[in-house]
Amino acid sequence: RLRFTKLRLNGFKSFVDPTDLVIADGLTGVVGPNGCGKSNLLEAMRWVMGETRASAMRGGGMEDVIFAGAATRPARNFAEVALTIDNSERLAPAGFNESDGLEIVRRITRDAGSAYKVNTKDVRARDVQMLFADASTGAHSPALVRQGQIAELINAKPKNRRRILEEAAGISGLYQRRHEAELK
Ligand code: ATP
Ligand code: MG
Repeated sequence: RLRFTKLRLNGFKSFVDPTDLVIADGLTGVVGPNGCGKSNLLEAMRWVMGETRASAMRGGGMEDVIFAGAATRPARNFAEVALTIDNSERLAPAGFNESDGLEIVRRITRDAGSAYKVNTKDVRARDVQMLFADASTGAHSPALVRQGQIAELINAKPKNRRRILEEAAGISGLYQRRHEAELK
């Protein structure tokens, strides 16, 4: 498994000031009062892994992840999230496997969309999505359970429930590859 070790947020939703979150081994719990940003943290993790649906970020458009301003603070022009991964077991897919650590950075600028980097090198959204699809983590990973998702799973139509289970089994990366092959 690729192990996440750090999440850094800057201008992402309520995290207007640069914030570092160290992710220790084992289970991590996030506690705090309503509205303090617990769900925003999970969304930042999903976003840096290449989430493309604004609805999954509880926004109308992707730019809604940028700090929108508060009574005492002006809005920001960009949001950035960096995810650091321990790759000392060299489990990252080919092309990302030259080093013991990976830092994936996604940045969105108003009117300019998203840009991604892996270890300071520019990459495409698809490269980042593939990296995580193969690692069977990823933006849609069942390991990241959104608020309300348990109820969705219980109420899901069989086809959708199957998709969730396939992701849990780690075979959704294969489908993404096949789909790409069919498009070529
Ligand atoms: P709960 O316990 O109710 O689930 P939570 O800790 O999960 O709460 P979040 O939903 O993560 O809280 O955070 C909500 C807060 O984030 C709200 O105060 C909201 O105004 C703020 N927020 C969301 N998007 C932005 C944005 N683009 N700019 C500034 N603040 C934002
Ligand atoms: Mg929440």
